[in-house]
Amino acid sequence: MLLSIGDELVLGQTVDTNTAWLAARLARLGIRTLEHRTIDDDLDAIAAAIRASAERCALLIITGGLGPTDDDLTRPALAKAMGVGLVIDPASLHALERFFKERGRPMPERNRVQAEHPQTSAMIPNTCGTAPGIDATLGRCRVFVTPGVPREMVAMYEKSIEPAIREAGGSGRTILTTKVNTFGSGESDIAERLGPLMARDRNPVVGTTVSDGIVSVRVRAEFEDLAHAQRELDATAAEVEAIVAPLAFGRDDTSLQQTLIRMLTERGLTIATAESCTGGLIAGMLTDVPGSSAAMLGGWVTYANAMKSGQLGVDDALLQAHGAVSAPVVRAMAQGAVERSGADLAVSTSGVAGPGGGTATKPVGTVWMGLAWREDGAIHTDARVAHFPGDRDAVRDRSAKCALQLLRLHLLGEDLGQVRWAKPPTT
Ligand code: AMP
Ligand code: MG
Repeated sequence: MLLSIGDELVLGQTVDTNTAWLAARLARLGIRTLEHRTIDDDLDAIAAAIRASAERCALLIITGGLGPTDDDLTRPALAKAMGVGLVIDPASLHALERFFKERGRPMPERNRVQAEHPQTSAMIPNTCGTAPGIDATLGRCRVFVTPGVPREMVAMYEKSIEPAIREAGGSGRTILTTKVNTFGSGESDIAERLGPLMARDRNPVVGTTVSDGIVSVRVRAEFEDLAHAQRELDATAAEVEAIVAPLAFGRDDTSLQQTLIRMLTERGLTIATAESCTGGLIAGMLTDVPGSSAAMLGGWVTYANAMKSGQLGVDDALLQAHGAVSAPVVRAMAQGAVERSGADLAVSTSGVAGPGGGTATKPVGTVWMGLAWREDGAIHTDARVAHFPGDRDAVRDRSAKCALQLLRLHLLGEDLGQVRWAKPPTT
C-alpha cells in the first residue's frame, strides 16, 4: 500500500505524483499496489492509517511529512503506530550537521528532529536533501518512509528501497505492461471488436483507456518468469494490433506524429502543411519529432481567405462558391502546398473550431481535412469532413490528429473511411 502525507496534497494544491511513480515502479517488480491513500498532516490520522495499512499488506511505502517543521508528523506518527519511542541516530545527526556545514550555515535547532527515528527502525541515507528515510517493521509489514520532495523520493527509492525489496525476495512474480494506441474509433467500439480478449479473468488482461481522442488498449501480463511474461505480453499485444489494425499507430509512448515521420523517412517522402483552423498545430506536432527535418519541408498558416488565395493559390471563385470550410478549398490548399513547396505530400485543414462562427450547415466542430500527393506526374487530392464534439481546444486537437491519421492510412493504401468520424464529400 502507498500513503502520501500532506495537507497540500489533500487540499489539491499539490498533485500527488509520488504514488503514481511508485506504483509503476513496484509493478515492474511484480508488486501490485492495493491502495493509494492521502492523509492530512494530523498525527493521529497518520498513525491510524499506518496501522490499518500495515495489517493489510506486506509492504507499505509512505512519502512526505519528514521535514523539520511542526506540521511534519510522519516520524512521531510511525513511532506511535509501532508503540515505541523516538531516538536520535548519531550518524544521521552527524550527516545533517555536515550537510549544513558544507553550505556554510549553522544547523537550525529544529532540523535535529530529522535525525530521529522510531526505536527498532533503521535510517535510510538521503543523498540529495536533509531528511533521511526510515526502514521499519510493523507486525508482518515492512515499512519504508521517504521525504515528499519527488526528486529525493526517487533517489532514495532507486538507491536503497528497491534493492532492499529485491533482497527481501521480491514478490516472486513479474508484471509487465504495454499499450497499443489507436486513433479513429471510439472506446466502446474498440472494446467491442476486442470481444473475449477483454475478459477480466484473462492473463494477460486487456483493458482500454481514452485520452484526448486516442484510445489505448492496455495489456498487463503477470507471470513468475520474466521471459514468459514478455512472450505472453507480446503475443497479446500483437493480437490486439491485428484486430484494431490499421487504426493502431504505435505502442507505449509512440505518438501519431512519430510514426508518420518514421514512415515518411523510410519511404524517402517529404511533406508540407497548409493549415487554417489548426493554426500550425500539425506543423508543430510534426516538428516536435527529432529528425523530422528529413521529411518535413515546412508549412503555411493561412487563416484569412486572402492568405489562402495569396499564399496557396486557392481560387477566389472556390472560396466564394463553397466557403473556406469546404472540400474544394481544402483540396486546393493541399494542392497549393505540394506545388509551392515541392513536397511529395501535403495535408490541409479548414474548419469551425468555435465557440462562435457556427452556422446551420457548418456547425461548430465541422472540419474539412485535405490531402494532396504526387502520382504518375500529376497532383491528386482527397478530402474528408468530420464533426468533432468538444470545445475549441478539443476540436483543434482532434482535427490535427485526424489529419495525421488520414495521411498515415493514405500511405498504407488503406481506406480512409476506417477513421470513423472522417466522412467523404457527399457531392
Ligand atoms: P514534505 O516531505 O511533506 O515536507 O514535502 C516536501 C515537498 O514535497 C512539498 O513541497 C510537497 O508539496 C512535495 N510533496 C510531498 N508529497 C508529494 C507527493 N506525494 N507528490 C508530489 N509532491 C509532493
Ligand atoms: Mg509536508
